[in-house]
Amino acid sequence: MFKERTRSTIVEAKPYTNRVGALLVIGSFVSIGVLLIVLSFLAFVPDLGLRLLWYGIIPLAPLIFFTVPNVWVNLCPLAIIQGFPRRMGMSGKRILQPKEQLLLMQGSWILLYLLVPLRHFVFNEMALVCLVTTLLLGVVAFASGLMFKGLGGWCSALCPIRPVEMAYGLFTKEMNRPELCAVCESCLIGCPRKHAGNFEAKRSFNAQFSYWVFSFPGFVLGYFLVSKDDGWLMVYGQILGLAAVSLLLFGALHRLIKWRWSLEAAVLTALSTYYVFIIPKIMEQWGLG
Ligand code: SF4
Repeated sequence: MFKERTRSTIVEAKPYTNRVGALLVIGSFVSIGVLLIVLSFLAFVPDLGLRLLWYGIIPLAPLIFFTVPNVWVNLCPLAIIQGFPRRMGMSGKRILQPKEQLLLMQGSWILLYLLVPLRHFVFNEMALVCLVTTLLLGVVAFASGLMFKGLGGWCSALCPIRPVEMAYGLFTKEMNRPELCAVCESCLIGCPRKHAGNFEAKRSFNAQFSYWVFSFPGFVLGYFLVSKDDGWLMVYGQILGLAAVSLLLFGALHRLIKWRWSLEAAVLTALSTYYVFIIPKIMEQWGLG
């Protein structure tokens, strides 16, 4: 399942020029600066902090995953924090065993499906909770960098954003690894970041989680069709119910057409559903409508 591809099927990633590498490192520092600004707003101007986070920064993420997912690794503050120990020569040595890796990756989907509906009740409204959660995740990411080799543990396995990054990154023609991975530490077996530009590597990575990917368009739609007034049971029931319907539909499609087409159809449906619903909300939040 996690077998490395043979040399003949690997399209090796292109190295960054020194200039681009330096720009990406600067981008990482800018990203940490933006994080500190958002955290300050969450602490002192909560409404603006929440608006910046959910209707300014987060909506950019799927677009980055879709176009340049490996650049995302340089911009994600948690990945940057996990990379600190490595840059300081204090990186951990542990590499997850294939079974542990698979378990954590399944866990990342479960975390995603538990946490996103919670936005309706907690994260969309409670700035202090967002602030504390972000700080705690920073500690987890740093500890993961101290414990695991490279980006293993948190960034490459358990992070709930990782499945979305992997799914939306299916189509990119990006040929570079993340800057942190320019020298690969083989922290993840079968890592698609390592084989940037290799569609087959990315497809087979997602294929391990195809049932989750098939359910994802319904999950995204479900999120936008409910509100916190519906109550906890309805919110989780409707979102997860639509995810189940989506799984059945794309699962059926999977039997009619090539599996990779059904996988791609599910990813594109989820991405377009997200932007169809989020763009009007962004306009409304910033008074542009
Ligand atoms: S490219 Fe290499 S160092 Fe980077 S996440 Fe993948 S396995 Fe780890």
